[in-house]
Amino acid sequence: MHVTIIGAGLGGLVLARVLHVRGIPATVHEAEPSPAARTQGGMLDIHEHDGQWAIEAAGLTDEFRGLILEGREAARVLDGDGTVLFDDPAEGTAGRPEVQRGDLRRILLDSLPDGTVHWGHKVSGVRAVGEGRHEVTFADGTTVTTNLLVGADGAWSRVRPLLSSATPAYAGISFVETFLFDADTRHPATAKAVGAGSMFVPAPGKAITAHREAGGNLHTYVQLVRPQEWFAAIDFTDPAAATARIAREFAGWAPELTALITDGDTAPVLRPIHALPAGHRWERVPGVTLVGDAGHLMVPNGEGANLAMLDGAELGRALAASPDDVEAALTGYERALFPRSAEAAADDILGRFLDDTAPHGLVGFLNQAGQDH
Ligand SMILES: Cc1cc2nc3c(=O)[nH]c(=O)nc-3n(C[C@H](O)[C@H](O)[C@H](O)COP(=O)(O)OP(=O)(O)OC[C@H]3O[C@@H](n4cnc5c(N)ncnc54)[C@H](O)[C@@H]3O)c2cc1C
Repeated sequence: MHVTIIGAGLGGLVLARVLHVRGIPATVHEAEPSPAARTQGGMLDIHEHDGQWAIEAAGLTDEFRGLILEGREAARVLDGDGTVLFDDPAEGTAGRPEVQRGDLRRILLDSLPDGTVHWGHKVSGVRAVGEGRHEVTFADGTTVTTNLLVGADGAWSRVRPLLSSATPAYAGISFVETFLFDADTRHPATAKAVGAGSMFVPAPGKAITAHREAGGNLHTYVQLVRPQEWFAAIDFTDPAAATARIAREFAGWAPELTALITDGDTAPVLRPIHALPAGHRWERVPGVTLVGDAGHLMVPNGEGANLAMLDGAELGRALAASPDDVEAALTGYERALFPRSAEAAADDILGRFLDDTAPHGLVGFLNQAGQDH
């Protein structure tokens, strides 16, 4: 067995690693030219039952523990005027340690044999060539043919059309990403408001969410429930104008909060949020399957990266357990995948916390979660 994986995100890399430790070779084709081509997004809280389980299956628990940023599980909810409504500095007992996504990707890359990842291999097309085999074409015109193809290529997967005609749709919300570097020194009031871990400031239809990352950097997602046309009217190639327009939505909020927008050290980046239909599934097609966002892109709810890793680990284990019957392995993998992802996608946490109950809906939820714990 040799597995051809498209995409070196967390899902594809966990799959490659779990296969490797079980003696099954794999090649990962990644569009980006190198591991350093792009910074890899912010902090991820890695849950015991999925992300951490996958890391254990990959044999990387010790390496993972070395990445944990202590204290980052703390959580606060503020009102727009800066009033603290919820403050849990001890959220660190919740079993959801926070790591930087780029660090997690690095330990996975370091754990694979040299040459496993083929960088700069952007897939432009895939087609069935019969008997469960598929031909993959890359942007440079080269091709590979494989018995077992796995699409781990994220939201806009090129592999997914082999299985399903579904495409992601705009979810009615976009994020605007900003950073404040070295905030304890340069923006002490804002650093204090954010606290040791995550800060959420939800209001109906909008929120400011910030995470404390390594080095006292504050990573912000401004969340706005607006149609795409609303954002299209903002010129994000003009950072000052875009910043001013986004900040206007938060007029009257406490200055230590709006500083996360107005004092950004980087140009604001617009991230429109898309999702596949909740409950997306497909009929079994010999020789191909999907992991992660390629199969179940959902509105961010703290699960996507964890699920992608779990998918990769589950698929790797299924293939290793059934090397003589790949179709049985894929059938078993998908049988568990579909209800698991449907359940996660049904949890529209953002919709719930940005409705008319904001900010108190989230405060009630966190208080209840604390009592249940
Ligand atoms: C703003 C935001 C915040 C989020 N926060 C969280 C969070 O806090 N916790 C959490 O668990 N999840 C979070 N998520 C969701 C999470 O980022 C995704 O669910 C996760 O990255 C999915 O992993 P993946 O491996 O399936 O896909 P990806 O991480 O998207 O990786 C896909 C890989 O495939 C490559 N690729 C794409 N197309 C091609 C091609 N044609 N040819 C070759 N390679 C290709 C890409 O370059 C990429 O490396 C967030 C998402 C967003 C948008």
